[in-house]
Amino acid sequence: MTNTFWQEELETLDRARLEALQAKKLRESIARAVQSPFYGKRYRELGLSPDSIRTIADIVKLPFTVKDDLRDAYPFGLLTCPKTDVVRMHCTSGTTGNPAAILHNQHDLDSWANLVARSMYAAGARPDDVFQNMSGYGLFTGGLGFQDGAEKLGCLTIPAAAGNSKRQIKLMMDFGTTVVHSVPSYLGRLHAVFAENGLDPRRDTRLKRLFIGAEPHSEETRLRIQELFGAKAYNSFGMTEMNGPGVGFECACQNGMHIWEDCYVLEIIDPETLQPVPDGEVGEMVLTTLDRQAMPVIRYRTRDLTRVIPETCPCGRTARRIDRITGRTDDMFIIKGCNVFPIQIERVLMRIPELGSDYLIVIEGKPEGDVITIQAELTPAFCTDNFKELENLRRRIIADVRDEILVSPVVQLLSPGEIPRREGKAVRVNDLRKA
Ligand code: ADP
Ligand code: ZN
Repeated sequence: MTNTFWQEELETLDRARLEALQAKKLRESIARAVQSPFYGKRYRELGLSPDSIRTIADIVKLPFTVKDDLRDAYPFGLLTCPKTDVVRMHCTSGTTGNPAAILHNQHDLDSWANLVARSMYAAGARPDDVFQNMSGYGLFTGGLGFQDGAEKLGCLTIPAAAGNSKRQIKLMMDFGTTVVHSVPSYLGRLHAVFAENGLDPRRDTRLKRLFIGAEPHSEETRLRIQELFGAKAYNSFGMTEMNGPGVGFECACQNGMHIWEDCYVLEIIDPETLQPVPDGEVGEMVLTTLDRQAMPVIRYRTRDLTRVIPETCPCGRTARRIDRITGRTDDMFIIKGCNVFPIQIERVLMRIPELGSDYLIVIEGKPEGDVITIQAELTPAFCTDNFKELENLRRRIIADVRDEILVSPVVQLLSPGEIPRREGKAVRVNDLRKA
């Protein structure tokens, strides 16, 4: 019989033991954190020390850390050890100003690789799998993060990196790839290239598992991807500030992502009052590293909105699960007084079989009021010139979106491939009001 767990004892700790372990590791993290200029000053001023934490519930005594703290402390302000102990840095995309740079020592990289291996294992990957990583390498954590984890697990790894779909397909077919990692938005495009070349991944590859993450996506998108590839898709949550991938991952149950609570403290707060919300209610996720030495980050406000799934998972893992991320607090836009997340629109579009996977939401401020335009690509199979059919489809999309967001959009139907592609994470919203 094969094992169900990568680290059975840690993955199945009962709540009391898990929380005792968290409290111990939090005290150790604080002891390290105060060695850094940033936390040293802040905690000294507030009179905080490892002794402030008796049980894990005491974590609420500690102040939050926000993205601007990391930016202001760039590049070394959160470092707890001599620079000579640091072996790697990663950073967020940081299109304006300083990015948030995260520094790792060898322990940190080993711990991270172990969590990615644990995650992949939980989703069913095994050492005899052939793993192809289609995410960008370099500063982006999805590349090296999955690479190290998959090697640790013992897979034959193919560091294909992002883009170059024809080569991806060739590698997949030649090496018998069984597991891939990708941003979900790329898989629709990859499938189109399979089709253009007369290939069908369900018939022509050995794919069994698709690890998808780094972007908000809906259940509808998952179902679509599974159908296109004839393989199971598992949601993967990570962020650079918390290492990268391997923070939260779906197990074989495919119903929410286990946050590895022996290595992270998970809190969900109300972003307005900053108070914790009960399990089951949506709020902003706050995470604390418990196993990072060079650069612990404590009570980090991720800006990601989600909820804890209150039920225990049938897989036997005791780490709590989070639901899919609805978006970041700053992804939300307000149109005609209604709060809208892009994922609400995605959910509607992905239920419509005539539409492909690519779309763009454009918002314009006009004298008569804000206008939201949805540009959606048709699938090659439904690319028709029949005006009546197109008009019916357009009307249907307008009605479905209005039901979801309470505002009527303008809908433009485009041919496959018309929306500009970019490598890495998809950009779904172009808010011209901010331009
Ligand atoms: P950047 O900030 O440059 O995009 P990251 O790669 O660190 O860099 O992005 C992390 C963010 O990506 C998360 O905070 C979250 O908003 C998003 N994200 C990561 N994984 C998922 C996922 N599975 N579902 C939804 N959003 C995700
Ligand atoms: Zn589970």
